[in-house]
Amino acid sequence: GHPVYRDMSTTIFEKMSARARETGAINLGQGFPDSQGPEEILRAAAGALLSRSNQYPPMAGLAELREAVATHYARHQGLDLSAQEVIVTSGATEAIADSLLALVRPGDEVLVLAPLYDAYLPLVERAGGVARVLRLTPPEWRIGRGALEAAVSANTRFLLMNNPVNPTGIALRDEELALLAECCVEHDLIAICDEVWEHVTFDGVGHRPLMGFPGMRERTVKIGSAGKIFSVTGWKVGWMCAAPAIATLLARAHQFVTFTTPPALQWAVAEGLGKPESWFAAMRDGYRASRDRLAAGLREAGYVVNTSAATWFVTVDLSASGIDMEDVTFCERIVDEAGVAAIPISAFYPADPVTHLVRLCFSKADEVLDEAVARLATFR
Ligand code: GLN
Repeated sequence: GHPVYRDMSTTIFEKMSARARETGAINLGQGFPDSQGPEEILRAAAGALLSRSNQYPPMAGLAELREAVATHYARHQGLDLSAQEVIVTSGATEAIADSLLALVRPGDEVLVLAPLYDAYLPLVERAGGVARVLRLTPPEWRIGRGALEAAVSANTRFLLMNNPVNPTGIALRDEELALLAECCVEHDLIAICDEVWEHVTFDGVGHRPLMGFPGMRERTVKIGSAGKIFSVTGWKVGWMCAAPAIATLLARAHQFVTFTTPPALQWAVAEGLGKPESWFAAMRDGYRASRDRLAAGLREAGYVVNTSAATWFVTVDLSASGIDMEDVTFCERIVDEAGVAAIPISAFYPADPVTHLVRLCFSKADEVLDEAVARLATFR
């Protein structure tokens, strides 16, 4: 028969969303907003759909969007990218896949930090790579120098990382980023940085791209996502940025994976990236209010909540809440008995999982969050 790979099972996000659809549960599992997205961005796409070409745009992306990404990062993160160093992809997941397909040779080791986004390992393995996992633990999730050095071997060629971090909602501290950068330089690693949450940060936490650290400009692939920045996860418009030597290889993988990305959406995203800082601040304020609403409601209901510095997620600490249940069991039970879907943190570990935390998505309307809290209150 055909081989069945353990790590190519249906993702936890799809599993829980399907469960929510079947049971009619409120879906605080898979991370997506329940809003339509900003009307001006939607109108820009609709306008482009009707007035511009709907045939293949250039393989590496519309020149206007590549330029807009480069300008955006110069303005917001102090990076000096040229448009030629930006390749548009059909979502950040494609960018991660392209990067691994383009760069990993069979047997190359890829350092990853757990908890890790569930697409990483299957993609690393299918690219022929071998994952080396640095396992992080709550409540600090701190990356220590000793553990980092121990996780790297002579065959390690890449670091694949996410910052800010899904599912913990942590933004890596400057000293941790500096440590990672030093490690990449010392061991000659290429860093593949999934920074899709770069704009979704709270409480004055800014985003520092690993690419901006000493020695990283030429050895980093920086990945971004319009779905997260503009609250349109279904659009699947993303990009990857890298110095020309790497970008050339990335483009070759991209041409055989999707080749291009719908042009109308590219036009709209190019327009959106030029919005003033106040626009991004307003977006962040809206999500911060939702985060605070869900966290306060859950606390009122007797749950211990770890707040987040970034992302659309908070985590509930089951053991601190006095709930003697593993995360998977808790998620199974609340979807059936309380009518709320959530994601167990153990799904983000390839081995030896942390099992007392559950991730809840707060990018939802106030009344949806309130109803979810009311339902979870009865489950206590
Ligand atoms: N990024 C989303 C999350 O963490 C999931 C996206 C997906 O299901 N592919 O919930």
